[in-house]
Amino acid sequence: KSQVSDLPAKEISPSYDWFQTESLVTIVTYTKQKDMDLESVIVDYQDGSFRAEIIIKDHSYLLYTELSHEIQEDITVHVAEKTGKVEIVLKKKDNISWKYLGHPLENHNSFTAHRDTGLYYRKCQLISKVDVTHDTKLYCLMLPPGTHLQVPIGQHVYLKQTVAGTEIVKPYTPVLDSLYLDLQEPIHPHNKYIYFMMKIYHTGLFTPHFDCLQIGDGVSLSSPEGNFKKSQLQELEELFLLAAGTGFTPMVKILNYALTNITSLRKVKLMFFNKTEGDILWRNQLEQLADKEKRFEVEFILSEPTSEWTGKQGRISLPLLSGFVKRSIENSRVLVCICGPEPFTEQGIRLLKDLNFSKEEIHSFTE
Ligand code: FAD
Ligand code: NAD
Repeated sequence: KSQVSDLPAKEISPSYDWFQTESLVTIVTYTKQKDMDLESVIVDYQDGSFRAEIIIKDHSYLLYTELSHEIQEDITVHVAEKTGKVEIVLKKKDNISWKYLGHPLENHNSFTAHRDTGLYYRKCQLISKVDVTHDTKLYCLMLPPGTHLQVPIGQHVYLKQTVAGTEIVKPYTPVLDSLYLDLQEPIHPHNKYIYFMMKIYHTGLFTPHFDCLQIGDGVSLSSPEGNFKKSQLQELEELFLLAAGTGFTPMVKILNYALTNITSLRKVKLMFFNKTEGDILWRNQLEQLADKEKRFEVEFILSEPTSEWTGKQGRISLPLLSGFVKRSIENSRVLVCICGPEPFTEQGIRLLKDLNFSKEEIHSFTE
């Protein structure tokens, strides 16, 4: 009986192979795809179970098995970008020969549309929390030692806590520990630490409980989601970022990546909407960055300013945008990123369309 597949002809399922030396087990998958990188591979080793998710375009290839023998927790991942060969190297705990890799677990060796893969969680540890403003803090979580996971720029994860017997899940966008970029240094790729900038709402379901966690406490973190692609920044000449409140969070890594890696970029302009001066996240860092980096400009707009505020006021509007989100060169390659409360984002998209930006030139962050 022939197997029915809903995959396009080109997207035939990959397969894997494994081999061993006295001390190592190597699992190899040939994805035959270009543009594979370390972000495309998520590996977890928890309680004897080994799980690897290889993201190939909008599909996931899953390896999920209860290993036949114990391994050490530091797992190495290699990705050959030209051929799409993925190598996962496990270190044996005991130098004995394995007869088989392991017992397959649910959906082992399956290739499914990424949206059907479901979220997988691993337990992270709260490492630190630092005040950013009166209601917003920077939290650092550490991944467990058996996890290899890098959150791509512009993507978010879900955090999960159990509060009074009920699981509560909310999305959050990782940021950097600061905006102090050393423009010479590439972003360190192997990071065990993930930073979140989170605003605490006293009557909120998730955030007040998250803020009560003690250093060393655990919180579950999902694999990354989101539809922003780094390639949207490639060869860009002008980048406009429109952020409101914590809608600033996706802009942090985008800003850093664009200024560090996109050589064609002439201008990055951030328009940051907040209620009051006290609500502006990383104001000093943004001002210092604007002083140091000629291509970067920031403007703060307050919706509830005090009488002393001499800067721009109000909510997102055509007069505010038309002066700021403006090509400085005719037909330049631009991208406008927008994130904030839903009504802010929706209104922003309408205004940008009125200003003749095309759909491809606008990226909005939503769930
Ligand atoms: P909620 O229970 O959702 O309540 C939030 C506020 O609304 C409270 O003040 C509450 O009293 C009020 N409220 C709730 N229900 C009602 C109602 N029916 N009528 C009137 N008021 C109501 N947030 C960040 O801080 N940092 C991030 O990096 C971040 N990233 C995100 C990424 C994505 C993709 C998305 C979609 C959201 C992101 N958020 C982020 C927002 C985050 O997911 C939560 O929505 C936020 O933290 C509030 O969660 P909560 O459960 O504490 O509050
Ligand atoms: P806030 O209430 O402090 O408001 C910040 C600014 O947003 C205001 O000063 C105003 O200029 C603008 N604003 C608020 N309500 C508006 C409305 N109805 N119409 C037009 N403009 C409006 O913001 P906050 O409490 O920091 O909330 C940030 C929001 O961003 C949350 O809703 C959060 O879910 C969302 N967010 C989304 C993502 C994502 O990726 N989708 C990421 C981070 C945050």
